[in-house]
Amino acid sequence: MTFSKFKRVLVANRAEIASRVFRTAHQMGLETIALYSDADIDLPYVNEATFAVNLSGASPKDTYLNIDKILRAVEISQADAVHPGYGFLSENVEFAKAIEDLGITFIGPTPETISQMGSKTRAKEIMNLAGVPTLPQVVIDHGAEVVSNQFNNLPFPLLVKAAFGGGGRGMRIIRDSSELISSIAIAQQEALSAFGNALVFVEPYIERPRHIEVQILGDRFGDVVHLFERECSIQRRYQKIIEESPSAFLTEDTRQLLLDTAVRAGKAVSYIGAGTVEFIFAPDGTFYFLEMNTRLQVEHPVTEYVTGIDLVKEQLHIAMGGPISDEAKVATSHGWAIEARLYAEDPLENYSPQAGHLARFEIDNVHVRVDTGFRSGSNVSSFYDAMLAKVITHRSSRIEAASSLELALRYAKVAGVPTNIELLRGILTEQEFLNGHIDTAYLERNDPAKLTQNIALDESESAIYLASLVMFRVHQRAMSRRTLPAVLYAWRNVKNADFFDVFVAQGKEMTVSYRYDPEFEIHVNSLEVPNFSVRHVGDDYIDIEAGSILQRLTVLNVSQGIFRLIGPKGSLIVSTKERFPRSSYESPLGSLLAPMPGTVTEVRAQTGDRVDKGAPLLVLEAMKMQHIISAPTPGVVTDIRARAGDQVTLGTLLVVIQEESETNV
Ligand code: ADP
Ligand code: ADP
Ligand code: MG
Repeated sequence: MTFSKFKRVLVANRAEIASRVFRTAHQMGLETIALYSDADIDLPYVNEATFAVNLSGASPKDTYLNIDKILRAVEISQADAVHPGYGFLSENVEFAKAIEDLGITFIGPTPETISQMGSKTRAKEIMNLAGVPTLPQVVIDHGAEVVSNQFNNLPFPLLVKAAFGGGGRGMRIIRDSSELISSIAIAQQEALSAFGNALVFVEPYIERPRHIEVQILGDRFGDVVHLFERECSIQRRYQKIIEESPSAFLTEDTRQLLLDTAVRAGKAVSYIGAGTVEFIFAPDGTFYFLEMNTRLQVEHPVTEYVTGIDLVKEQLHIAMGGPISDEAKVATSHGWAIEARLYAEDPLENYSPQAGHLARFEIDNVHVRVDTGFRSGSNVSSFYDAMLAKVITHRSSRIEAASSLELALRYAKVAGVPTNIELLRGILTEQEFLNGHIDTAYLERNDPAKLTQNIALDESESAIYLASLVMFRVHQRAMSRRTLPAVLYAWRNVKNADFFDVFVAQGKEMTVSYRYDPEFEIHVNSLEVPNFSVRHVGDDYIDIEAGSILQRLTVLNVSQGIFRLIGPKGSLIVSTKERFPRSSYESPLGSLLAPMPGTVTEVRAQTGDRVDKGAPLLVLEAMKMQHIISAPTPGVVTDIRARAGDQVTLGTLLVVIQEESETNV
């Protein structure tokens, strides 16, 4: 490993993590180099670096995953160290080697450690030998026939995983032996297309597990220490969205055992730098090593908060050949920190990532820490991960941390693209979460649609919110016609005619009607909002009085037809249109419609086929995953409307099955 007191750090990454590394590097008196793709030229991190170098192109393959281009940028910029961030090339051993071959410092562990931990199966073998508990596994060799008796010792349910997987992708649950062969085949295909390696393995699937991981630091003097745990059990699609430290689940004894085990794991590979040892906990408190991430983790800020240690500073010092700092060696943990990942995504459409123009992006960063790569006016590109920001709080207790985080998210002014803000708020105020009863199936038990509906607002409160929205829009329309705001109170001379608008809020249709004659009156679902009057209207807010209480509501136009109202009782999503467009044609009985937009990659059935319930009919690739569309009932395939290669939208008719009663099959 090359090390020296470097002076100029290039960050081979983008957005928030590039920004995060620059911040500490500058405080240490170092110069920094940003890399930016054509799509990222206007993001703030580019100008935060001392200099920036363009990687022409926009796709990850042409830019942040392109080793040759990055090496050229290193030469042009005369950087003498490279920080890889997370994702992209951060755990790519060829990249780490290439950097060291240039005679400059790679800020991370040795290529040998990266390679040992890069394969989950090999990592498990190494850890098993070192006495770190692991789950039993069956490794499926490339292309080899799957022999089902190989699995005899493993109890169902099982999980098939990509050996070189990451980001929660390439995993499938296998509930019984009939799914074994096909699930493994699909996982192999997915692994090959996503990670360039088809190697998969099978291990027991733990029901309702908790994900708890340990931050470690190692140096070249052989020291390895831990910086306590982080619990990351709130996940969607095997990806974390809320993380915290400490974990509410651990007793002091289990915590000590876990931390010692993580240090043992680090020592087993002579770990150098900052790394994370991930464990999965069964409900009975037994835990197993999952994988080791040989880089800075997305959720590192919660550890920085509870320990007061700057992890990037430790990384840079250790990479210069220094020891773990004395503060880190004796670090203790104080209070409670929680991080929420704010994503441009639609939780009600299978968390599909959203791209677009972020008209507004303002989050209070006085009371909370905000790590972000965006600002008002930035574009969210569809080429990269849709994470907009990490919002992190630190308070003396878990409940206080949750409520301060909720407040920061509630008042976050984000407009232009749909986000998961309301879902995060919903979780942070939900009772099971507040009681610490969380596990990775939390979002399967708690419907995202419910969590986003702010149940804290009762009927009369949400009626006030809706009435305010209507009056705000009346005012805006009046202003855009350059007429006087006075128009608000009397603008049409048809007597007794009600104006009305229909919305969807809290999962219900809400009709707001109002009239000016003889006096102003406003009704929501036919119930009058008593003593309602508008006091003042601003660019993005309206002050109203209802029943002698004066309150301000902020109105954000999240995206076309969708508003977010923020007020003293919480925030509320209101849409002016139906969420799910009805198909323009009448679907015949027995129609199977596309559950999400995607590409049909394979059609397995033919017209006339007699199929059993559950028979695979076609494969839809959407969001980098393969989804098998299978027969919902036994029957005869009477029509197939999709062909391999077809791009389909949500609700497209794929297959028609004429149902047969079970007894005929
Ligand atoms: P963490 O445990 O820190 O969340 P993940 O393995 O989920 O780590 O990945 C960290 C981030 O990097 C995620 O935002 C993920 O989408 C992104 N990522 C993971 N693998 C890749 C990859 N091969 N290429 C680009 N981005 C990736
Ligand atoms: P990645 O590299 O994608 O982060 P991990 O092995 O860390 O892969 O697993 C990611 C998540 O998948 C875990 O946090 C957990 O929610 C789930 N998971 C992984 N292995 C298991 C298992 N054996 N049983 C249950 N859930 C699992
Ligand atoms: Mg992981």
